[in-house]
Amino acid sequence: MVSKFRRPLLIWDVDGTLLELSGVGRQALNQAFLSLHHISEAFDQLDFAGATDHALYRQAVEHFLHDQGAADPSRFFQVYLDRLRVLLRHAPIAPLPGVSALLALLSRAGWPMALGTGNIRAGAYRKLGRVGLANYFPGGGFSTPGCSRADLLRAARETAPPGTPAIVLGDTPRDVEAARQLGLPVIAVATGRYAPDLLVSCGADQVVETLEDRDRLASSIVDLMERSKGSGGAP
Ligand SMILES: [Mg+2]
Repeated sequence: MVSKFRRPLLIWDVDGTLLELSGVGRQALNQAFLSLHHISEAFDQLDFAGATDHALYRQAVEHFLHDQGAADPSRFFQVYLDRLRVLLRHAPIAPLPGVSALLALLSRAGWPMALGTGNIRAGAYRKLGRVGLANYFPGGGFSTPGCSRADLLRAARETAPPGTPAIVLGDTPRDVEAARQLGLPVIAVATGRYAPDLLVSCGADQVVETLEDRDRLASSIVDLMERSKGSGGAP
């Protein structure tokens, strides 16, 4: 599909866009915090939608730890990854509808793809590996200390040669806002908890209700490429 254009790099969010984890990420974060700081359910009240792992950890530390010097992100995320690995073994985790077939098709076509996710790198690949999707993504942008969502999208974009057009795909207003900060077009996927109208009102260029609808996705990509051609530059 879209053969008359230079193929844009597709920058994919993970949770709520490619797969549904049923709270396993939150459980693993809670267990790690309990193990290191003896406080249970520290992440239960936090808003995960589009957040980075490091931002969530920082919020939990600021809220619960009197001595914030006790925070040690690298130790925390080591424990988190251990817990995530155990939880993922038995979790009811699955790719969202249409995702596996779509990624296989794009991969066979040699389409450039990257991750743009608030997960730490190892967490993203652990989740994707659990459902057989890890090998589709050679790299991307991930949660690092102090990074914003726009920062990680910038890192994802830099996995492609300079000048390569790029499109962000994500399921939350934060994905949309971060893409817009960078001037990147964004296709919102309404498979998370946000409705199409809301995603459009946040600035999504296109909304796809499900990635099972490949025709809709293809026409969205064509439309965005036509628009960028009309405006005289690669998005
Ligand atoms: Mg998401």
